Amino acid sequence: MSTDDVSTNEALFARAQRVIPGGVNSPVRAFRAVGGTPRFVARALGPYFWDAEGRRHIDYIGSWGPMILGHGHAGVLEAVRQAAADGLSFGAPTEREIELAEAIVAQVTSVEQIRLVSSGTEACMSALRLARGATGRSHIVKFEGCYHGHADALLVKAGSGLATFGHPTSAGVPAEVVQHTLVLEYNNVAQLDAAFAAQGDDIACVIVEPIAGNMNFVRASVPFIARLRELCTKHGALLIFDEVMTGFRVALGSAQSLYAKAIPGFAPDLSVFGKVIGGGMPLAAFGGKKDVMGQLAPLGPVYQAGTLSGNPVATACGLATLKEIARPGFFDALAARTRSLVDGLVQAGRAAGVPLVGDSEGGMFGFFFAERLPQNYAQVMATDKERFNRFFHAMLDRGVYFAPALYEAGFVSSAHSAEDVAVTVDAAAQALRG
Ligand SMILES: *Cc1c(COP(=O)(O)O)cnc(C)c1O
Repeated sequence: MSTDDVSTNEALFARAQRVIPGGVNSPVRAFRAVGGTPRFVARALGPYFWDAEGRRHIDYIGSWGPMILGHGHAGVLEAVRQAAADGLSFGAPTEREIELAEAIVAQVTSVEQIRLVSSGTEACMSALRLARGATGRSHIVKFEGCYHGHADALLVKAGSGLATFGHPTSAGVPAEVVQHTLVLEYNNVAQLDAAFAAQGDDIACVIVEPIAGNMNFVRASVPFIARLRELCTKHGALLIFDEVMTGFRVALGSAQSLYAKAIPGFAPDLSVFGKVIGGGMPLAAFGGKKDVMGQLAPLGPVYQAGTLSGNPVATACGLATLKEIARPGFFDALAARTRSLVDGLVQAGRAAGVPLVGDSEGGMFGFFFAERLPQNYAQVMATDKERFNRFFHAMLDRGVYFAPALYEAGFVSSAHSAEDVAVTVDAAAQALRG
């Protein structure tokens, strides 16, 4: 515990702001949405991290998804240590890259070939270039509230009218760069129909988060995904599932395996992965059918490269993680634990007379201060923000660390025990009464 006048977290935040813009290396870490001082993490183990003041928190972020086994998993750490001892980076191929590619291809039936990169942003950007190169078309479609990393063409919000092109959401992105990006409402089949009717033959691809985790937790409806698949096939556009968050997190076969159960023969054309497949190291990937992937350099005309791509330590970490989650029963147990958390939160809300709804799949969850689950970005942003922010801080004070913004998903790991969930639900009951 700090004996200083200023808490250690506050002192670190002040010091960080002198040399790092906003004091953070990724904006949501700065607590701008909820106010207050970010917790600087000193170390983590299992479902917990300890901040710079020595306070323990139950961690429901898990590095925004990667830490599906919790922190400091012994098998993963040993794989990383061994790999590091053999060399940090070579810039030449290794057997472990093949093993990781094989491990992904074995679980995701739509993926025949995969290329490894270092971040989800890079993977999404590369998948778009590949889709444009493979189809010879320029237009791309994305949905409001879905996040696909921060490549220029994807930092865009809807224009004023239906099927008009978007506006940049960041300074430094010229309007010309997003002039081929069409932004539609999530789960809106009518808009999709209209967009394809108007521009279908110019659309290279549609990129979608099958369960949108960057607007908290919003499922794409089955009819929406079914129609998306139909329209892409009919018009020769590629359907890209951005599973950077959902991949190996909501199910071993990723979110697409859930839609394939509901829609006979369903498969996306390209898939993007990150987060869990790196197990906490910088690693992401994009993959699909051989004919499309064969358009990539060195085989085809679509350029893509990376000095640290397929990094030997990152692949060791990812492989060790995938090995653990492929054990029989892993996802059933993780899903049950996650569901018990969401059920507990919803019950605590009901007991306190506070409208609170939630949903989960595998080890990913979301909750909203609202009467019913939102279906799109506008509905997410219309939920009770003031109440969320109060709840966030009340939980933080009680040692429970949820995402510091109402539009972010939460994550449970296999290290979270029934006791951790019970402590969390008790804290929520107190916080909601207070
Ligand atoms: C996290 C995320 C990304 C971006 O990945 P980074 O590794 O942060 O660049 C892209 N798409 C989705 C769906 C994500 O959740």
